[in-house]
Amino acid sequence: MPSHDVVIVGGGAAGISVAASLLRRRPGLDISIVEPRETHYYQPGFTLVGAGIFTSEQLRRPTASLIPKGATWLKTSAKSFEPKSNTVILEDGGQLRYRLLIIATGNRLDFDAVEGLTETLGKNGVTSNYRSDLAPYTWELVRELVAGRALFTQPPMPIKCAGAPQKAMYLSCSQWERQGQLDAIEVEFHSAGAVLFGVPAYVPALQATVDRYGIDVHLGSNLIAVDGPSKTAVFKSEAGETSREFDILHVTPPQKGCEVVADSELADTAGYVEVDQTTLRHKRFPNVMALGDAGSMPNAKTAAAVRKQAPVVAVNALAILDGEEPTAAYDGYGSCPLTVEKGKILLAEFGYGGVLQPSFPTWLIDGTKPSRLAWLLKKDLLPPIYWDAMLKGHEWLASPKPLQDDAQ
Ligand code: FAD
Repeated sequence: MPSHDVVIVGGGAAGISVAASLLRRRPGLDISIVEPRETHYYQPGFTLVGAGIFTSEQLRRPTASLIPKGATWLKTSAKSFEPKSNTVILEDGGQLRYRLLIIATGNRLDFDAVEGLTETLGKNGVTSNYRSDLAPYTWELVRELVAGRALFTQPPMPIKCAGAPQKAMYLSCSQWERQGQLDAIEVEFHSAGAVLFGVPAYVPALQATVDRYGIDVHLGSNLIAVDGPSKTAVFKSEAGETSREFDILHVTPPQKGCEVVADSELADTAGYVEVDQTTLRHKRFPNVMALGDAGSMPNAKTAAAVRKQAPVVAVNALAILDGEEPTAAYDGYGSCPLTVEKGKILLAEFGYGGVLQPSFPTWLIDGTKPSRLAWLLKKDLLPPIYWDAMLKGHEWLASPKPLQDDAQ
């Protein structure tokens, strides 16, 4: 059975970044990356595809072009984990042994959890920016709607990019406002959550955006069924079930831990890899780590979080391989650039406990107020930072903090 120093399962944003960060620190380290997909997408750009700013093609690159030099790509999936014998079982029938396992399988979009949804996605006015193939349909629907009702949904947490459901809605409203049609379109936001956004500092600006566009907000309202042909959505709340007809339905799917993790000994009760939220080391299996959306950490599940986590995992993984204890700490940083209109963003940046962690001084970008500069950052700077810095192990604004500093 092949044996490696490090096996990384999942070669998305997190898997590639951590492989690159490891190899920058220790060239020659024996790393294998297990990843089935041939195409890698820059998912934070999906919202802008849904608003006609990017095309899906601009956001994709071949996985082969992103695997760091020195790492080996195994184009298959992990079928199961056997952490007691340091073994990963692969879908292609193979097995891998490891000294250290890093899990970066992301999370699972569970469109099937909403009755009738899967069969009507991409037609009957039903769309989701959460899939690269559907985000262009969002833009098509938004461009063509001149009057009617548009519904936007948000499932229970955790979801990746908690701001994405609202981003889709505000950018659509911004487009209808520009076209002079907003008054003829009824917009409703149905969120399973109890508040507009989990970090209070950003709520006033979001509420002002809701008021500006005249959005009817329904909190505690969870999408449970869709009938595509009759264009009807069913929501469940404490008051019972309500049916709403729609012209456009933008769905953010319910999300959960990947099956391969959830079915393993490595999972917590919610199906995510059960790691210490500071060191990102598994709580029960000391030679297992996780980062990105697959981990149990209570941070905002974003690529921005991955940018900070990858160097921490790299430092701690090398310490563990050397028989030492982890020395680097992750403080829960995540970022949601909330696109409140075409051309302006509320740059939400926060860590564990909702503590604000702005990357820029307030005079440059005040994260609690819509900013044109933050829009330029999202549209023009963050994509190259993702492709050319984060995925290449250049740790821009992401130096790992020492563990003892964090504990103080
Ligand atoms: P992914 O990038 O999803 O990668 C997981 C990888 O694991 C995949 O390539 C998959 O093929 C692989 N995998 C799964 N199962 C297996 C298996 N069994 N074996 C092997 N490999 C497997 N983030 C931001 O920072 N800012 C934003 O503005 C933003 N907006 C977003 C908007 C949308 C609509 C979406 C969908 C996401 C957004 N995000 C944003 C979130 C961001 O894209 C994710 O948090 C980030 O991609 C997480 O990286 P990851 O590597 O954990 O997961």
